[in-house]
Amino acid sequence: MKSLWNDTEAAAHAGDLALRCYTSRLLGRDRSLVLHGGGNTSVKLVERNVLGVEEELLYVKGSGWDLETIEEAGFAPVRLAHLRALAGLASLADPVMVSELATNTTRAGAPAPSVEAILHAILPHKFVDHTHADAVLAITNTRDGEARIREAFGDLVVVIPYVMPGFDLARLCAERFPAQAGPSTIGMVLLNHGIFSFGETARQSYERMVSLVDRAEQYLRRERAWDLPAPPAREAPRAARELAALRRSISAAAGFPVVMARHADARSLGFCGRADVADIAGRGPATPDHSIRTKCVPMVGRDTDAYAAAYRKYFAAMEPQAKERKTPLDPAPRLVLDRELGLVGVGRTARDSAIVAEIYAHTMDVIERAEALGGYRALPQKDLFDVEYWDLEQAKLRKGGKPPALAGEVALVTGAGSGIGKACVAALLARGAAVVGLDLNPGVAAMHDRADFLGLACDVTSGEQLAAAIERTADAFGGLDMLVLNAGIFPGGRRIEALPTDEWLRVMRVNVDANLVLLRECHPFLKLSPRGGRVVVIGSKNVPAPGPGAAAYSASKAALNQLARVAALEWGSDGIRVNSLHPNAVFDTGLWTEEVLAARAAHYGKSVEEYKRSNVLRTEVTSRDVAELAAEMCGPLFSKTTGAQVPVDGGNERVI
Ligand code: ZN
Repeated sequence: MKSLWNDTEAAAHAGDLALRCYTSRLLGRDRSLVLHGGGNTSVKLVERNVLGVEEELLYVKGSGWDLETIEEAGFAPVRLAHLRALAGLASLADPVMVSELATNTTRAGAPAPSVEAILHAILPHKFVDHTHADAVLAITNTRDGEARIREAFGDLVVVIPYVMPGFDLARLCAERFPAQAGPSTIGMVLLNHGIFSFGETARQSYERMVSLVDRAEQYLRRERAWDLPAPPAREAPRAARELAALRRSISAAAGFPVVMARHADARSLGFCGRADVADIAGRGPATPDHSIRTKCVPMVGRDTDAYAAAYRKYFAAMEPQAKERKTPLDPAPRLVLDRELGLVGVGRTARDSAIVAEIYAHTMDVIERAEALGGYRALPQKDLFDVEYWDLEQAKLRKGGKPPALAGEVALVTGAGSGIGKACVAALLARGAAVVGLDLNPGVAAMHDRADFLGLACDVTSGEQLAAAIERTADAFGGLDMLVLNAGIFPGGRRIEALPTDEWLRVMRVNVDANLVLLRECHPFLKLSPRGGRVVVIGSKNVPAPGPGAAAYSASKAALNQLARVAALEWGSDGIRVNSLHPNAVFDTGLWTEEVLAARAAHYGKSVEEYKRSNVLRTEVTSRDVAELAAEMCGPLFSKTTGAQVPVDGGNERVI
């Protein structure tokens, strides 16, 4: 492990707090040190308050901030003297501690200080860094972990036995640290939890962390527990339907729809294919910090009912603590390890499922290295349970409030790169859905950079490309609940006597045939949707009121309309709703350039503004108007409606 400190970068950070941010981000950049909100850092500063009195403050990472992206605003300033006084108490209940931390923070609007703030306060050093380094966990999480840590670090670190994070841990450290620390002490190892380093400058504290973790890595190398055997090369089996079926049963156990992220790379398949996977994975997570996200025990295989039954038993065995928990039992797994599927992260959102999968990718390293050291050993189940159902952490996870209407659900939108399709993607994302956008234009892949969006270049007239896109959808999010059929073409105006057969066929291929294939191929997935599948067809005003010169377009949209009506009839018993929208005169799409618009307006003897509003309501219809209604049709408001056709056209005299 190497230091990422860079003099030029560091020079851009003036002052201790700015440098505290800089080295915190250096830690955050290395995923083998901290993951997703894990780890924390601090700096002790003397500042003059408004009364002119000098005060010692602990600037400690606030909750909700990631080390990788933290800014000065992400550190909460807490009165140091008060924190040190708290450490002297015999006991302090969690909610009281949280209240004390909040009420002794000196900046209004600062984030809640880390629950490890008191621990940072009692360490007699200006800068303190804390990580859950994989290499350190691989050593501590073994039968003789403590002896190995002493062997690896000598008197460089103070060693503290496992105690749940919070006040009791801070108090234990306050007692043990001064007794054990000597002139060579540069850090502290918390068994089964992680490691601290400290120093007088940001650089010193950070580089001590790097050197300590490097020492752990060297130790693993010496013990032949660093390089893991290469997994056997195995092609990832296609498993879209199996994933969707699994997602349905996990969603049923959870009581809400979940998103699943599949990782079927050689490493994950190798781990999941181990004969002893149920045993080693069943021993528990690498550090308690992970058990909140992944739960203490992963599901091995695909029997959700058996897992739920075992989980209920585990929960009951933790009585009487379990009874006191405010968090209700949720017997669904957050992580699946399966021979064929590989590693599958499960979450309420795409981000959650990706976080779970990433955490476990590191857990696999820790487990296999600890196995090579003589045997992976996690904490006793009771300790893990205490953290998994820790009220403070659960409250943090719940803080988002009521989940959005389409949370945990997956949508696929065609023609997603522009116009109505692009607006549909935005409307569905805003309602909490994970969205796959298909478009001919490969630029769709970069349309959104977020965990809940996947953009795929796809020609919808290619059955092969559609099948591949559906496969990718299931791998990325676990299944499919909503389908928005939007892609379509509108060739230039042409009367029937001049309409070439080729053009007619091309319009039919895109506007009708492709949608038949997509409906057919998506049906098994929509049928497995936890809340029932939904299809929204973007039709056209031309269905009820065709226009001259648009024979191919009007006929194709009418055929698609009949297809949607038949789908509504056939699929009602599968719980799938199929509804259509008929937009008209939506001018903010790729079809309508300024020039075309001006030409059409002139043709009718109107100004562009008049032309845009030439409908009964004299209003302009935008892509967003259409998309909001399409997304709403996927939500609870339309839960009792199928086979409907709703105009979005500002009112059209020929339709009314
Ligand atoms: Zn920690």
